[in-house]
Amino acid sequence: MKHVIIGAGPTGVVAAETLRRIDPSSRIVILGDEPEPPYSRMAIPYLLADNVGESGTYLRHGDAHFETLDVEVRQARATGVDTAKKSVALGDGGAIDYDRLLIATGAHPIKPPIEGIDSEGVENCWTLADARRVLAGAQPGSRVVLMGAGFIGCIVLEALAARGVELVVVEMADRMLPRMMDETGGAMIARWCESRGVTVRTGTRVTGIARAGGKLTLATDPGDPIEADLVVCATGVSPNTGFLAGASGAAGAGIECGDGILVDHRLRTSAEDVYAAGDVAQGPDFSTGRQEVHAIQPTAVEHGRIAALNMAGAETPFRGSLSMNVLNTLGLVSSSFGLWMGAEGGERSTAVDETRSRYLRLEFEDDRIVGALALGLTQHVGVLRGLIQTRVRLGAWMEKLRADPTLVMNAYLECTQGDAR
Ligand SMILES: Cc1cc2nc3c(=O)[nH]c(=O)nc-3n(C[C@H](O)[C@H](O)[C@H](O)COP(=O)(O)OP(=O)(O)OC[C@H]3O[C@@H](n4cnc5c(N)ncnc54)[C@H](O)[C@@H]3O)c2cc1C
Repeated sequence: MKHVIIGAGPTGVVAAETLRRIDPSSRIVILGDEPEPPYSRMAIPYLLADNVGESGTYLRHGDAHFETLDVEVRQARATGVDTAKKSVALGDGGAIDYDRLLIATGAHPIKPPIEGIDSEGVENCWTLADARRVLAGAQPGSRVVLMGAGFIGCIVLEALAARGVELVVVEMADRMLPRMMDETGGAMIARWCESRGVTVRTGTRVTGIARAGGKLTLATDPGDPIEADLVVCATGVSPNTGFLAGASGAAGAGIECGDGILVDHRLRTSAEDVYAAGDVAQGPDFSTGRQEVHAIQPTAVEHGRIAALNMAGAETPFRGSLSMNVLNTLGLVSSSFGLWMGAEGGERSTAVDETRSRYLRLEFEDDRIVGALALGLTQHVGVLRGLIQTRVRLGAWMEKLRADPTLVMNAYLECTQGDAR
């Protein structure tokens, strides 16, 4: 059996290791189009903050790791898939055939279509190559504008602040973390950042960028222009599915795509013997039962493992991944889980302590917690995840949590020990 994996990120690496464990005699090839050994984008902020060198971002240490596993890591870009011939076209004009194929090509950052967005000094922060340019531009005291205050933007914010730059964050939504926090939580995080010297401009669009004399000027709506030495763009990502359009065979070789490559409960695509996993895949969501793109590493790694088990013939259904984000913004930890925005016909309970920057919001459906937001409450992270994922019935605790959601830890302990009073 020959397994080919396109993509040398965490999804591809975990899939290869899982395949080797359960299918010792198979041939395994990983194709990756970046020049570095397989690395973790998640570790880039540590590189920016000078906590690790480049090798600290590598997913596996020791040159011989993949050789020992008899996994071939080949630097090659896939340019198409022919599902009829079971063959992947390569950028150098060659091709590689497969018995089972895993597409784990991740996503790429997208910049908004505004004038000057491709100017020198306007960078993404997605790859190691991007990180080198950001490191060169973000010197202590330099003025940096961060466009976008979503999950990735706020991770980058933390790293840039650690470099001692003068930082302005511009977010077009009405709050920071619009897809992970409600108005209360987003406003609390903005105030927290402002009190630590970061300028935050929400409800603001960058409408153009001009470069003159080595400086960048950003026109904004509303508000005054902003001067910058460096602009870091964290304005969203899009799955790497474009290469499928280059495949022989219509409609991307018959591999159906929506927001990402659509996969079922075994991580199978619509094409026979082709699987997809990680940021590129639109797979089952634990909370909604629908297919969603999560674009977070826990989902990517879980996908990679389950896809590999199924590729090797160990039929393993996937129960769906829980949408979950945990973030540390200048020391303030925020988290969101599942249906944090609420379930239809469900109930909500909140507790806010503005002075201590603490906030908890629980979302119920019947007597179960189906979603939650937490700010400044690190000890609740595991508990909230546990209550949602195990779909524990709260019984009598439902009434108590309605009145005071901060009792969730006590509810967890009693309910999971079968003592729901
Ligand atoms: C700065 C930063 C911080 C992050 N922090 C967190 C965090 O704290 N928590 C979290 O959960 N997530 C975080 N993420 C997101 C996380 O990194 C991704 O969810 C994860 O990398 C997805 O893994 P993947 O293997 O699916 O894709 P990727 O890591 O993107 O790997 C895909 C690989 O495939 C390669 N590839 C693409 N197309 C082709 C092709 N045609 N041929 C060959 N190779 C190809 C790509 O170049 C890449 O090397 C962060 C991301 C960034 C950028």
